[in-house]
Formats: sequence, structure tokens, C-alpha cells
Amino acid sequence: MMPEHNLPRGNPPDRIAVRVKEKGAKALRQGHPWLFEDSIEKISRDGKPGDVAVVFNQAKSVLGAGLYDPSSPVRVKVLSFGASKIPVGRELFRKLCLEAKQLRDGKISSDTNAWRLLNGESDAFPGMVADKYADALALKVYTPAFIPWLGDIADSLFELYPELRRLAIRFSREVQRMSDDVRFGLLDGTLFTDGTAAWDGSVQFLENGIIFEADVKSGQKTGFFLDQRDNRAAVGELSKGAGKVLNLFSYSGGFSLYAARSGAAEVCSVDFSKHAIAAACRNFALNAHDRNIASCRHVGITGDAFAVMDELEKEKKLFDIVVVDPPSFAKSAAEKDTAIKSYARLARSAVKLIRKNGILVFASCSSRICADELFEAVHQTAASAGRPLDEFNRTSHAVDHPAKFKESSYLKCLYARV
Ligand code: SAH
Repeated sequence: MMPEHNLPRGNPPDRIAVRVKEKGAKALRQGHPWLFEDSIEKISRDGKPGDVAVVFNQAKSVLGAGLYDPSSPVRVKVLSFGASKIPVGRELFRKLCLEAKQLRDGKISSDTNAWRLLNGESDAFPGMVADKYADALALKVYTPAFIPWLGDIADSLFELYPELRRLAIRFSREVQRMSDDVRFGLLDGTLFTDGTAAWDGSVQFLENGIIFEADVKSGQKTGFFLDQRDNRAAVGELSKGAGKVLNLFSYSGGFSLYAARSGAAEVCSVDFSKHAIAAACRNFALNAHDRNIASCRHVGITGDAFAVMDELEKEKKLFDIVVVDPPSFAKSAAEKDTAIKSYARLARSAVKLIRKNGILVFASCSSRICADELFEAVHQTAASAGRPLDEFNRTSHAVDHPAKFKESSYLKCLYARV
């Protein structure tokens, strides 16, 4: 049964006419879903978050329609372009959800039941994501503009994915701080079920046959970093026959479990969150039926990755594979240079912990720093530490995390022999 919910359904919508300057018109003609405040010439009235904004050019032709967001410089989140026959509402959301589903159909392996259903603006939902974990749906909103429509969006996804039985609503930090009326009284971590059982927000799911547990009510993002699935699988492949693997910034042990399943003798997970390390240990326990995972020695270290690496170096520890998957160090353009220095520092420490011919896997989720720039710094640092890298692969976004616009592209991962 579908989850029972009383989420708002955006009916009847309030409309605003928005006339744009040439700059805004150009963005919309190019299919870009962000209409910035400074591209707007005139609005018919002050709008509330989620009001339907119909966008016109100087000649009064309709360029598109979307959701108004007075709290953001991206004042209109554009959902349809040109004079669409489908007005913003249930039918449009159903169509957009279906298009996102078609993009993914047949591309997720049968032993995986958790993936991203809607990836923000690249799936025509600028400012929200939807993740599915087995029978649980997590909707995370980064803009209040989607809140009045959450009921319609959830219902569209329930229709398309009939296995869904539970629903979690997640808010970004900014949205959490907004007033009660803007949030329609909803709080981050609000849960709905089909009424058959109580639920605390924890859900078990399968990723490439490995069982994981996520806390969709209060875990980071929507509970798990689904975007790294393909890189985790690649680390699994590389770990065949490996002795020791070090997983830095491990969160709930994603990379660690893949390495263990492939037969690594010892895997060390490092994260400064004790909840993350506890979750990693639980995930090992959940897979104890797998002989390799059961016989792998898993060491969970709660601590700062930089400090732990210094400690491991002092102890002269060496690993066959080191995975480095830090959070974004550059939250704004101004932080870019310091962030590159931090990434380089990580790379320097990491290569010192890798045995000769061992492998470095270095990921970054910072949209502010492009792959070439970041990995150039990683190469240089490794070389200057006397451990030059022989790069053999570089990856970016997985199929369920499309990145249609340059601003949407954030994930990059380098694979190299040391
Ligand atoms: N590799 C993980 C996702 C990593 S997300 C996966 O596959 O699921 C980044 C993680 O880094 C978070 O869990 C966060 O708690 C942790 N973290 C952030 N700063 C840290 C630091 N200085 N030292 C250790 N862990 C840190």
C-alpha cells in the first residue's frame, strides 16, 4: 500500500507573471532551469514560495513556467520551457517523474534496490532530489518552492514505483530554518508509512548484492551516498586479492564492504562521526552470511582523517589500496584555493600510506573545483612526495545522478597506481 500522507498538493495554484530581461530570456531559450533575480525586469506581484511563475519576454511570448522562490537569488526554478500545454501541477510532475524513470530504466542492476529517482535540475527538479531505498522514498528539498507541491510529487512517484510503502521528508539546513507557514508545518525528518508497521526511519536495502542500512530520517544527505555506487563497485573489483585497504571518510562503510566482499584481509574505516563508524560496523554485521565479509578484519576508527593518517604514517602502516572520499572542502568560490591545498595535503598523506604498486582512489564532490584542476594538484603533490601516480581511470557521474549543466557536475574520482 502507498504511504498515507497529508502533504500539500498545490491546489489551486497562485500565479505570477514574470517579465525577464534579455539575459533571462537567453537562459530559458537554452533550456537552463535557473532564472536569477537580476534577470527579472518586472513581476506582477510579490509571490510566495511555490507560486507558479509564468515567464514572458519583452514581446509577451511565454518562455516557460516554474516555481517562484523569494528566498533565493535563483528566483524562479523553471520546470517547463516554451508555451507548454501542461500547466505546473500534478500532471506536469507526473510527466517529469516518468521521464526521469525512463532515463534509468534497465540501467540499474537487479541486485540493487536503492538509487536516485530525481537528481535536481538535471531531472527538471531544480532544488530537490528523490532517493529510493528499497520500499522507502526520501524527498529532500533545498528550496521552499517545492513544499506546496510535495503531495503531488510524492503521489507521482508512488504511482511509478508501486513498491514504495514509506516516505521521509528531508529539508536542507536553510529550509529547516524557515518559518512554519513556509514549511507547511512540516519538519525535517517527517515520516509517513502505509500504516502497517511503526517506523523510525531506518531502512535496509541492497546495493550490488550487499546489504546496507540507512537512516533516512536523520542520516547525512538522505541517509546514504548513493552517488558513489559505481566507484564502490570499482573498488570492489580492485580489491580482489588485496591485503589491507584503508577507507578514509568512510561514512557507513560503503567502500569498506565492497573491499571486504572481494576478499581483502583487513579493512580500516575512518570517519570523525561516531555514528558513521557504528553504522559501518552494523553494515559488516548485516552481511555476516558472506564468507569474505565475515572473515575480513574490520577496524573502525573514529577520528579526524588528517590526524589518523599522520598516526598511521608514524606507525609505518602500509596499505594496498587507500580510498579518499572527503566532503566538499569548497563551499563557496572564495574557499577554492584553501580547498585545493587541503585536497593536496590529503593526497600527500595518502600516497605515503600506499605500498609500492598499490592503488590510490581519490574522489571529490566539490562542484567549485573541476576535475582537471584538482587532479593536477593531486598528481603534483604525489610526485613531489616521491610517489608519482600512474593514473589508469577517471570517473564522474553515475547513470542515476545525471549532470546536465556545468553547475550540476560535482563528482569526480581518480584511480592511480602509486
Ligand atoms: N565514502 C562514503 C561517503 C563519504 S561522505 C560512502 O561511500 O558512503 C564524507 C564523510 O566524511 C562523512 O561521513 C563525514 O562524517 C566525514 N568527515 C568529514 N570531515 C572529516 C574529517 N576531517 N575526518 C574524518 N571524517 C570526516
